[in-house]
Amino acid sequence: GSWLGVLGGGQLGRMFCQAAQRLGYRVCVLDPELDGIASRVADRHICAAYLDEAALQELGELCQAVTTEFENVPAAALERLAALTRVAPAARSVATAQDRVVEKAFFVEAGVPVADYRVVMTHEDVEGLPGHLFPGILKVARLGYDGKGQARVASLQEARAAFQRFTEAAGGRPPVCVLEEQVDLAAEVSVLLARGSDGKVAVYPVAANEHRNGILAVTTVPAPEPVTPALARRASELATAIASRLDYHGVLCVEFFILKDGRLLANEMAPRPHNSGHWTLDAAGCSQFEQQARVMAGLPLGDTRHTRPVIMLNILGDAWYRRPPQAHRSAAAAGGAMPDPSAKIEPDWPAVLAVPGAHLHLYGKDDARRGRKMGHVNITATTVAAVHGKAETVGALVAQPLKG
Ligand code: ATP
Ligand code: MG
Ligand code: MG
Repeated sequence: GSWLGVLGGGQLGRMFCQAAQRLGYRVCVLDPELDGIASRVADRHICAAYLDEAALQELGELCQAVTTEFENVPAAALERLAALTRVAPAARSVATAQDRVVEKAFFVEAGVPVADYRVVMTHEDVEGLPGHLFPGILKVARLGYDGKGQARVASLQEARAAFQRFTEAAGGRPPVCVLEEQVDLAAEVSVLLARGSDGKVAVYPVAANEHRNGILAVTTVPAPEPVTPALARRASELATAIASRLDYHGVLCVEFFILKDGRLLANEMAPRPHNSGHWTLDAAGCSQFEQQARVMAGLPLGDTRHTRPVIMLNILGDAWYRRPPQAHRSAAAAGGAMPDPSAKIEPDWPAVLAVPGAHLHLYGKDDARRGRKMGHVNITATTVAAVHGKAETVGALVAQPLKG
């Protein structure tokens, strides 16, 4: 059989393995972790550091193509692999997405508008920040995700303190950061697309995203108001232009802000399948993970049309720490003991599964921690109204209310 390879062993790698296997491929995961959730479903696991020469050699020789499930894999590993096999996306694309400074400069050069920002590398740079950028968000340029490595700063004084904290967290060496103006969001959307090595592009319908505490909470397709068809079209065009300019191969996701004044700004991009594209597993002709496998194998791109209204709810570890449910509270009122508020309680999966149109995806992670992505549920129905009703029911069960 033919082999496809993936760097990284988290849930994105795991869902990629499952999609590739369904197409008949065998999958090899390179993951430094001994017993990761992707390596458990992979056909082969190479347990080594991403830059381990022998591991890269083995992976590159075994696989007809290799991809990455996260953008922070060292670009050098992808470069090394490119000498041995097909790599999608290429090291250059990944390198652009893994550094906010490079990424923003690339957007600007490509004519894609972004929030006003300045690069901050030193304490002097902080002092020179213009007042109009406040309130702003200070973000480390590399390795941040789920809102980690970010600080909302209302003033120069707060920016100073935040930069100092980031410097201490980095062991005393000031990390490269950007300060962005905080924009007035009317909505957030993402554009997911796949681009083949022949340059053909398949774009998914625009998804509306709601973040809570910097972490994606809810994705809705079709995107509701205020995402007009014109804004959706413009976002798709910009994402397509970005992919072409990178000569991108594989699945790409571009996050956008829609401002209250109607402007559309690019936030960041992910050179891989994305959390906001998980709805494609249950409501699109072809999922984003299968799409990635197709690009890698040189197969035709799949159908990106959405088949039915869908709402994706992320299931975080927080769901294990819910307030005691009503039954427990009444037990306590009747003189019974209250459950330990620090104890973990497994969400009521049977109740979730009892909702028609609720498609549960759990990643098989052993340890539920607050803020950790444990799974997601795609809720589908034939009408938008029905999907909302069901999502409200499911949201209450997984501690991810539809309206935050
Ligand atoms: P991801 O997990 O998507 O990679 P991240 O840690 O890279 O997240 P961002 O996408 O930069 O973080 O920001 C997370 C969220 O914070 C955004 O989706 C948005 O809700 C909010 N946010 C970020 N930058 C701004 C801004 N300049 N103005 C207003 N809100 C912002
Ligand atoms: Mg990010
Ligand atoms: Mg983001």
